[in-house]
Amino acid sequence: MVTNKRKISILGSTGSIGTQALEVIDRLQDKFEVVALACGNNTELLKRQCEVFKPKYVCSNDAALKIDGAQTLYGAQGLNEICSNKENDIILVAVSGKTGLKPTLTAIENGIDVALANKETLVMAGDIVMPLAKEKGVNIIPVDSEHCAIHQCIKDITRVDKLIITASGGPFLHKSKNQMNNATVEEALCHPKWNMGKKITIDSATLMNKGLEVIEAHHLFGMPYDKIEVVVHPQSIVHSAIEYVDGSVIAQLGIPSMHLPIQYAITYPERYEGIKSKSFSFSEIARLDFEKPDFEKFPAVKLAYEAGKTGGSATVCLNAANEEAVFAFLNKKIKLGDIYTITSQMLKNHKLVKAPSIDEIFEIDKEVRIKTNELIKNYKKENKCLII
Ligand code: MG
Repeated sequence: MVTNKRKISILGSTGSIGTQALEVIDRLQDKFEVVALACGNNTELLKRQCEVFKPKYVCSNDAALKIDGAQTLYGAQGLNEICSNKENDIILVAVSGKTGLKPTLTAIENGIDVALANKETLVMAGDIVMPLAKEKGVNIIPVDSEHCAIHQCIKDITRVDKLIITASGGPFLHKSKNQMNNATVEEALCHPKWNMGKKITIDSATLMNKGLEVIEAHHLFGMPYDKIEVVVHPQSIVHSAIEYVDGSVIAQLGIPSMHLPIQYAITYPERYEGIKSKSFSFSEIARLDFEKPDFEKFPAVKLAYEAGKTGGSATVCLNAANEEAVFAFLNKKIKLGDIYTITSQMLKNHKLVKAPSIDEIFEIDKEVRIKTNELIKNYKKENKCLII
């Protein structure tokens, strides 16, 4: 039984995960006290959130921001200050991209549990983050729906033989490879099941998101890559599953909504009714379909497996090159199919660093991003088709 209110801070409170987390907290007001809220540039929404949740600290990219009753912090340093504040029982890291890595490390160093919605943290530095969490006795509870599902299924990780990660298949599941590679930004942003930020929606269209999730799962659960399987499940009802050594399979099911994984992560190990809207009904769902992913059509998944198995800085390169290519696609500079070609070319040219330090990870990340953009620029100039 939790008798005192759990003290929580949210990094990325105005984003998709952050706003849904506050909806959960609003339903569980007697369970939570908000210590700090941090956003990037959406300070108007941050102000409205402060009126309701009254945090002690706020942080944004606006150095001039003033909010009555709260101490204002600024930028990356502000995020680190929040994460070193031992008033916190748990910090929800829901910022996007590499911004999540340093605050997560700071929270772990200070012995504060982390609800992790930022997969880049583990893709970039899982080999540093997870051992540090173990050393400090800190819980890293995944918010990503698939990993949250696996977290709920596991009782004894040493007896788990396989992780089975489900994928909805995105908007191009039943389209041809050619249709997918030449899709418009609007078509690629039209995800059939999940309403998310733009970057992750494009990653879901190419299935790179699933590849990044395989790497995330490898680090979170210490499972070798050949024991992590991806299966396409268009209904997004089975959020993932595990197979024990005796062949027993345990899956976690639920309607596709991020409220549940968020609530699970921030209330763990307790469970509350919270934001549950209606009871689950097998007869309403009627059928669940599963199929093997088409790696020929979605080569990004294979590329992520390869980078993961290579290890070291390969996943830093994968993440940075993919992200820059996704931005170029969103800005209509390249085609959807070019994202894979550019990312795989960057990986091919990458000089591997086997066990990079945090500083080296940030350096490599920066360098890969510059080189990826050079490749994109030259590609435009030469006007050659990169699609293979
Ligand atoms: Mg996911």
